[in-house]
Amino acid sequence: MTLLDFYRQYPDEASCEAALRSFREHHGLFCSQCGGLRLSWNPSHKSWTCMDCKHEMQLRSGTVMQGSHLPVRDWFAAMFMLTATRRAISAKEIQRQLGRKRYQPVWEIVHKLRDVMGRRDSLYALHGDMEVDEGFFSTETPEDQKDCPLKRGRGSQRKTSVLVMAESSRSATPPARKYSTPKTVGHIKMLVIGDFKASTITGKIKTGTDGNADVTTDGFSSYAALEKDGVTTSHHAVVADDKKSVGKVLTWVHIAISNAKRSILDTYHDIKAEFLQLYLNEFCYKFNRRYLGFRLFDRPELCACTYRANFKHRIY
Ligand SMILES: [Zn+2]
Repeated sequence: MTLLDFYRQYPDEASCEAALRSFREHHGLFCSQCGGLRLSWNPSHKSWTCMDCKHEMQLRSGTVMQGSHLPVRDWFAAMFMLTATRRAISAKEIQRQLGRKRYQPVWEIVHKLRDVMGRRDSLYALHGDMEVDEGFFSTETPEDQKDCPLKRGRGSQRKTSVLVMAESSRSATPPARKYSTPKTVGHIKMLVIGDFKASTITGKIKTGTDGNADVTTDGFSSYAALEKDGVTTSHHAVVADDKKSVGKVLTWVHIAISNAKRSILDTYHDIKAEFLQLYLNEFCYKFNRRYLGFRLFDRPELCACTYRANFKHRIY
């Protein structure tokens, strides 16, 4: 499906609103005041009225689109573009495709969609055999630290740390030939972390997994108590001096990290640390749905209908 096909399927605003309405009505719509399920549609207001408490609910309320003045069609098209290809898509590119003059509103749409992608993925608990490691992504030096001497390695102002987790198991079906590893990858998560304390790392692993994972990490001390603290069923630390032998065990986290870096760097020259999580959300969302192809499109639609974005930011 191309953008042109997409526009044929949704030729105008009315068709998008109708799709949104039917989607919401078929996916457990209920009154936000009393939880009632009996809602009646008012075409003139583009809203539902609750038959029990008379509360009126707008078509977009409770979705990522709440409060936005841009057409539903722009949101749908942005969702489509964002998920139609594996590479990172910039707001600039989407703005050009939408033919919008102003960048800011499109930039907000795109970041809000990335935000709900992250929230959608956060509902999934990783399980089984897993690899966990940290990755360091290049980001802009924060304004308040531009005059400070540059630190190196961990804690450098030019790097943002990310905890990366990947379901990775030895399976009967061998993975694609281009990856010379006997392990296959399932879902992944990438979470920006502010520090490397054991409590920070353990907390992220605890919320990201089902509590029964068998985790492999390197010998970093912050992972030491994972099993003792009951966060994982088992923990295997690979203590090796050379990067290569660690890489053989933590194969998929490393592949995921380098693919994410390449994907983000190919699209952006410099990114602000505060937005890195959003770009990672987009990467992981697509990675986790890599077998679905263009059916990806109904996924963000689902996001748009169930969540409201946390993202609030203005660049002017
Ligand atoms: Zn009600």
